[in-house]
Amino acid sequence: MVTKKRHTGGRFHIRNKYPVMVAVTFLVYIFAFVFMVSFAVMAGPSITAQGNTVATVPNVTGTQAQISYTTTSIENSYVNLGPLILVNNDNSCEIDGVNLTPLYENSNGTYMVADYDVSINSAVLQYVNNLFGDFHQLVGDNDIFVNSAYRSKEIQESIYNTEMQSRADGEMANTGEEFVAKPGYSEHQAGYSFDLSLMDDDGVITQYAGEDKYSWINQNCSKYGFVVRYPETKAQVTGYGFEPWHFRYVGEPHAVYMTQNDLCLEEYITLIKTHTVDMPLYITDLSLNKWVVYYAPAESGNTTRISIPSDREYQISGNNVDGFIVTFKI
Ligand SMILES: [Zn+2]
Repeated sequence: MVTKKRHTGGRFHIRNKYPVMVAVTFLVYIFAFVFMVSFAVMAGPSITAQGNTVATVPNVTGTQAQISYTTTSIENSYVNLGPLILVNNDNSCEIDGVNLTPLYENSNGTYMVADYDVSINSAVLQYVNNLFGDFHQLVGDNDIFVNSAYRSKEIQESIYNTEMQSRADGEMANTGEEFVAKPGYSEHQAGYSFDLSLMDDDGVITQYAGEDKYSWINQNCSKYGFVVRYPETKAQVTGYGFEPWHFRYVGEPHAVYMTQNDLCLEEYITLIKTHTVDMPLYITDLSLNKWVVYYAPAESGNTTRISIPSDREYQISGNNVDGFIVTFKI
């Protein structure tokens, strides 16, 4: 009986091994599925199919934002256009100030402008007004004087020739760090930059150093989409000495990221190239808006296909080197 009982018991266990194995296998699948989903969420967007794609990204509140992607086609000549174009001694400016608007007539009256000819890209105008409007509210009347913004290649050529003549005459030391760009290689030609001076009540104009009360402008300009384009510590990278007076518009999320991470535009453009649509750069701006930024290399031929969000506003800017940068808010 005992043997039989044991035998029966053995059979009982053998008979019930199958449901146990099924249950264990099921649990393993569940665990693997949960793990993969968690990993996908942590990793950001996951492309599920070609053409229309869906990505899940974490947003600032911790809940998940769904982004569906589609593709668009863009002409490769647009690589030279947009607020993120890199213009320096190696990358010439291929545009001649598009969509310019005169600053003098359109200023909000909280800063001075040299003359009627000072113009800037019309998309940048409101940010110039906001920056100096807020500064004026903070400190009251001040000496801010915008002495230059867009400069044509011809004007740059005359500035450059004057500078070179001065150096030849020994009036100015050639430091090896440029302060005057070669014609065709100046950021001013793009229309996204401006230079500041100070003009006192007697009309005396002095160099802007971004010091004392004016340091607020240099420290807070990123909130308005501007960066100090040639920082003191980046002369080796930019090729330019410290220019606390030269501001460049790149757009708020980019300006905030560059400032917080101590990157000049050369370094930032290089960094973005490591972030494609599969692994974008997430930026939280100073108003806690969250942004998605990624790079799409220009394809051979005349056009490039770029992934874009199918249901959100987005911006595509060329980098003036070899591709495009997509930016949108989530
Ligand atoms: Zn300048």
